[in-house]
Amino acid sequence: MKKIITSILLTLLVTLTTTSFAKETELAFLKNMPPIINRYITINETRENLMKEYSKLHYDSEVTTITPQAVVVHWTAGGTADSIYNYFKNVSMTDDEGGSLNVSSQFLVARDGTIYQLSPDNMLARHAIGLNWCAIGIENIGGYGGVEDLTDAQLQANIKLIKYLQQKYPSITTVLGHYQQIYAKNTPLWREYMPNYYAEKIDPGPTFMRNLRVALSPLGLEFFPE
Ligand SMILES: [Zn+2]
Repeated sequence: MKKIITSILLTLLVTLTTTSFAKETELAFLKNMPPIINRYITINETRENLMKEYSKLHYDSEVTTITPQAVVVHWTAGGTADSIYNYFKNVSMTDDEGGSLNVSSQFLVARDGTIYQLSPDNMLARHAIGLNWCAIGIENIGGYGGVEDLTDAQLQANIKLIKYLQQKYPSITTVLGHYQQIYAKNTPLWREYMPNYYAEKIDPGPTFMRNLRVALSPLGLEFFPE
């Protein structure tokens, strides 16, 4: 009898230990989660329909959720955290040839390094031609007049945020600045069904991308030339 009880107890102990280990591994990224303020843009049926319209047009399939494989870093070239939020909040914009889903990004970083989450990580956002189907976008307030003026607080916030996202989504392999899209065009990350739909970009500048590369490439993330 004593033997049986010991055996049951032992099995129980092993099960508990394995379960709690699995849970710990699964949620390890939470330990490294930087402070993030949820400030969602309007997410409703209209936005959902516009996401489908956009992805049908550009990827030839109706996509509203993504499996993140890349992070695209941007600057807003103006505005404040409030004004950009208010702009992104609208579900639609004046129709252009690319569809009327409004531009937005999953994250917005204010000049003091405050990170705002504007929509779920895996919800399609319109921030980078050719890459929205697989990329999380981080917008940084700055780049006024094309000047490389992003702050050190923003750099540290982007480093922490990208580290956390990489742990949360092991599918993420690549980090690029919006202006480095030219290199992404030659990789499987690029998908654009609409011919000649492209726009030259300079954000967020080579200095910011060099600093991100130095901090993050040792973690196995791939970067393009600055
Ligand atoms: Zn951009």
